[in-house]
Amino acid sequence: MPQQPQAQVFDLVVVGGGPGGYPAAIRAAQLGLKTALVEKERPGGVCLNWGCIPTKAMLRSAEVLETARHGAEYGVLADNVRLDYAAVLARKDRVVKSLTDGVAGLLAASGVTVTIGHARLTGPRTVEVVGVGDAPLGQGGPRYNAPPAPDGAPAATLEGRNLLLATGSTPAVLPIPGIDLPGVVTSDGAFLLEEVPRRIVIIGASAVGAEWATMFQAFGSEVTMVELMDRLLPAEDEDIGKALARSFARRGIKVETGRTVTGIAPAGDQAPPLVVTVADPDGGNPREVEADVVLVGVGRRPNTAELGLERAGVATDLRGWVEVDDRLRTGVPGVHAVGDVTGRVLLAHVASHQGLVAAGVMAGHDERIDYRAVPAATFTHPEVASVGLTEAAAREAGHDVAVGRFPFSALGRAQTFGGVEGLVKVVAERDDGHVLGVHVIGPGASDLIPEGVLAMQLGATLSDIAATIHAHPTLGEGTMEAALVALGLPVHIPPSRQPTSPTRRPPAGPSRRPPARPAAGPAAADGPVDSRAHAPSGSATLPHRGTGPGAGPVKAAPAALASGAPGQERAPRFDLKVTVDATRLLGLRAELNQQTGVEVGLTDLVVKACAGLLAVSPELNASFGGDRLLVRRRVDVGVAVVGEDATLVSAVRDADRKSVVRIAQEVAELADRARAGQLGAEEAAQAAFTVSSLGVDQFTAVLEPSEGAVLAVGAAHPEPRVVDGQVEVRQVLRLTLSIDHRVVDGATGGRFLGRLKDALEQPLQIVA
Ligand code: FAD
Repeated sequence: MPQQPQAQVFDLVVVGGGPGGYPAAIRAAQLGLKTALVEKERPGGVCLNWGCIPTKAMLRSAEVLETARHGAEYGVLADNVRLDYAAVLARKDRVVKSLTDGVAGLLAASGVTVTIGHARLTGPRTVEVVGVGDAPLGQGGPRYNAPPAPDGAPAATLEGRNLLLATGSTPAVLPIPGIDLPGVVTSDGAFLLEEVPRRIVIIGASAVGAEWATMFQAFGSEVTMVELMDRLLPAEDEDIGKALARSFARRGIKVETGRTVTGIAPAGDQAPPLVVTVADPDGGNPREVEADVVLVGVGRRPNTAELGLERAGVATDLRGWVEVDDRLRTGVPGVHAVGDVTGRVLLAHVASHQGLVAAGVMAGHDERIDYRAVPAATFTHPEVASVGLTEAAAREAGHDVAVGRFPFSALGRAQTFGGVEGLVKVVAERDDGHVLGVHVIGPGASDLIPEGVLAMQLGATLSDIAATIHAHPTLGEGTMEAALVALGLPVHIPPSRQPTSPTRRPPAGPSRRPPARPAAGPAAADGPVDSRAHAPSGSATLPHRGTGPGAGPVKAAPAALASGAPGQERAPRFDLKVTVDATRLLGLRAELNQQTGVEVGLTDLVVKACAGLLAVSPELNASFGGDRLLVRRRVDVGVAVVGEDATLVSAVRDADRKSVVRIAQEVAELADRARAGQLGAEEAAQAAFTVSSLGVDQFTAVLEPSEGAVLAVGAAHPEPRVVDGQVEVRQVLRLTLSIDHRVVDGATGGRFLGRLKDALEQPLQIVA
């Protein structure tokens, strides 16, 4: 019997180093978890090795080839343009290597222990690592779905307080006669073709099939696509599928929709070697198509073979996908799963996002995943990208929709670029204009969709998009123009005879719906509001505030630090607390002081860290304004400074744009003037977020009406802590975040505090 190696113990063992597993491992390590990762192949998973990246590298070669061929249209003449397919593959390999090496480097730099081998669960806490068997497609082929080595002797045993399963998915075998013939490949096998096939039949017209069709057509193949559904990219909006079909037809790609492949047979001695029978779903109207290669571009199944799920007691659904909740927990305590293996959304960015959330959850943060604003991109020529509901899905879900379509042919940048195919389509709620979905087909679609994603994430309206100034000439103007069309106010195309929106409103109204993010409070979000536009609402009666709305020098109320000042209407608020290991932060402060000669305080570093987070998490840069949420555009951070006879709050304006040294200088100057009683009313904070550092630990602040949150920073003090299994004396800092519950909920506040803790514990990013 082989000897069982001594178990190495970790806080977290991640199985699988793809886009789900590797970001989770890095984040977990950042959050202080001692982390190991087991991977069969090179890190990066299917995405970097056999999916997203190699296909995009090859599609780029296809694009360059097409552009060179059409150079004359741009006044650029090139003779003898031709393809060197071996060079295309070599470039693809270089790109893949560069990125997978990069991931390996990141894992190493983060202190993640990486073990190469096949991981098998032996219980809910233990993983044994054995050798990897032969690659299913032979030498040079993928090993991510290889079986364990036949000898099976464990090379390592890892024990984890938590396990994260991120083993991905693998091509499914379709039940078609002849599917196992030579020349029939999945997308894995397509990478191993040494030549461009003269004739190729592609089964399935979703993203993978459509991208290979684009590529091989550009490289010179005669391409036939067969799709069971009634259009290309069936998951996309109908208008998009139709537009892509028109474009494919122009390029000479033959598309048979509403059809299926009923059999593949060898063609005897003839070339090409395969005959594919394409028929209606009921077998009617059969037609034979000759092919050198048949590419199966549909169907994935979870990569769970020989993973030992049963030994850990992890449940799967009927199709074998690992079941998880919105915190990525399986039913077994401590065992989480992310990415394709969960069968939720088989996309790399979803896997990564799940991985980051799972890492936070395992580190004890209150995080959940929200799938409402998930983008998808397909890198066909022209590209396709989308987020949210299609028009049909929105109607099915009972929405009364307004739709705006804007063709790229009407856009200056598209004309100059030379890619005038396609359109932007915005689907919104008719009565209040809230964006339900954005769909793009055309040049740069994948880079345009983030505007739609952000719109959905923040609960934006058509008016919000239309009122946002877009640079000219850019392809991004298409989204703004589509929003204007949906509002019935098109500028660059003739008005439609049937306005899509009954109430034509100029694009200025603020949105009143909670953002897609569920964490937003019930009264969230009132669009971007410039805090300068609001009348000051400060009150001199509040305990830690001395600045009032009136002119002249500030008359401060006596300082009273504890919450609960009498006679004052209080916001519904809650407090969140966290302890931060501030050892590195203190080291950084000492270095800064030495280098700059400016006395940078801990509070200044905290202010800077908060400002950076508020710039990307505006939900905490907001306050409650009666019937609406006032979200500040500028990142002003209130700072409590001790004055003559009271604690006063002034603001560091645009703190996200200032260096920590500059912030330190401003805060010092404010404090000096506060002590001298010279702080003017114009310096009253009016910031929605305040940092208050009074040097005591157990202190919770009072919220001003203009404030959504106050962060109380305690004094740093030494405490023994366990680091990498050793007891060390570390400097710790306690933070208390008091939040107006009408502004955000606990989950959002918790996430903010978690990120702040991360930032303060990895402080180089604060001064970067
Ligand atoms: P994977 O990337 O599959 O990673 C799982 C990892 O686990 C693998 O590295 C594997 O070796 C390892 N592993 C499995 N079992 C074990 C074990 N027992 N022990 C140790 N290691 C193990 N998505 C996009 O978002 N954009 C795209 O453009 C895109 N293009 C694609 C193109 C193609 C051709 C394909 C096939 C997919 C594409 N995808 C794309 C999908 C994307 O690749 C996946 O959604 C993504 O890779 C899933 O990440 P994951 O971490 O869950 O799994």
